[in-house]
Amino acid sequence: GLPATPPPVLSERRKTRQLQVGQVGVGSEHPISVQSMTTTVTADVNATLQQIAELTAAGCDIVRVACPSADDAEALPAIAKKSQIPVIADIHFQPKYVFAAIEAGCAAVRVNPGNIKKFDDKVAEIARAASDHGTPIRIGVNAGSLDKRLLAKYGKATPEALAESALWEASLFAEHDFHDLKISVKHNDPVVMIRAYEILAEQCDYPLHLGVTEAGPAFQGTIKSAVAFGALLRQGIGDTIRVSLSAPPVEEVKVGVQILQSLNLRPRKLEIVSCPSCGRAQVDVYKLADEVTAGLQGMEVPLRVAVMGCVVNGPGEAREADLGVASGNGKGQIFVKGEVIKTVPEHQIVETLIEEAMRIAEESGES
Ligand code: SF4
Repeated sequence: GLPATPPPVLSERRKTRQLQVGQVGVGSEHPISVQSMTTTVTADVNATLQQIAELTAAGCDIVRVACPSADDAEALPAIAKKSQIPVIADIHFQPKYVFAAIEAGCAAVRVNPGNIKKFDDKVAEIARAASDHGTPIRIGVNAGSLDKRLLAKYGKATPEALAESALWEASLFAEHDFHDLKISVKHNDPVVMIRAYEILAEQCDYPLHLGVTEAGPAFQGTIKSAVAFGALLRQGIGDTIRVSLSAPPVEEVKVGVQILQSLNLRPRKLEIVSCPSCGRAQVDVYKLADEVTAGLQGMEVPLRVAVMGCVVNGPGEAREADLGVASGNGKGQIFVKGEVIKTVPEHQIVETLIEEAMRIAEESGES
């Protein structure tokens, strides 16, 4: 069954204002949400909804869609209506699409004021429309499109420049009594990004959307995001996250979910505790771990499965897990809740673990 006490977490969340992105609450009173962004042409409603469904299945809580053209803006009502998760419209350059997105029933709108010309004159109007519809706004400052004034003042996109830009833009909304804001200040350098968010966290109580921008291909981007988010989440900073990868967005969601699960900020489901293998291994641990992971994909109950290459640490770890195997001599000792329940030949290890996992899942469903 489920653990009786909640698992330990590293830090208390920084106290923030709360806002509602559709049915998803964002802020310190709510779980940290995972976001991603579609890569389809937004105007292609079916393709976009299909991708949103895939992201939802992977654990995405909120999805963002780009809106670079009038055709995309026209597709927003259908997408916002049919998506299972809240849809945020991402607007650059053209304030008219901000109004279109609000009217379309998008759950929030992301603006990059550095990219919206004459944004300042439009703030009053945007604030009024957003407030009328209860639509939150994300102020998304990006190192690559920093406000020219701040670029001139700081010479480049320093942490101070990013934070000042976002806070200045937030103050424009605040002047119109609009506070339903969340903020992001993205940079491709995790060190700059971390510092920028720390400054923001000290200086405002808006919820923060974490992101390392242009983080790179999957391997590098995963690591950059994990270390940057980890450093901030450890301080309780961060209310919603987006991992950016030069890879399909489902991969971003998987990484985001895994980062939160690693810090106990989201309930763990399937967790594979597998050894790195070493000269003592009597089985191909990598292959076994991959096969078990693939076989148990999509398990909906929390399950810790140990996959160990030999009997040195094997039984110990396997005992700590819900389910496990310690291999040796062409056989696998199968453990359930610390007890060896059977020993099977190597070729039956994967199927046996899957069988036992299904049984545990069924039993926990009944309890
Ligand atoms: Fe090596 Fe055995 Fe430890 Fe795996 S469990 S790393 S094979 S000693």
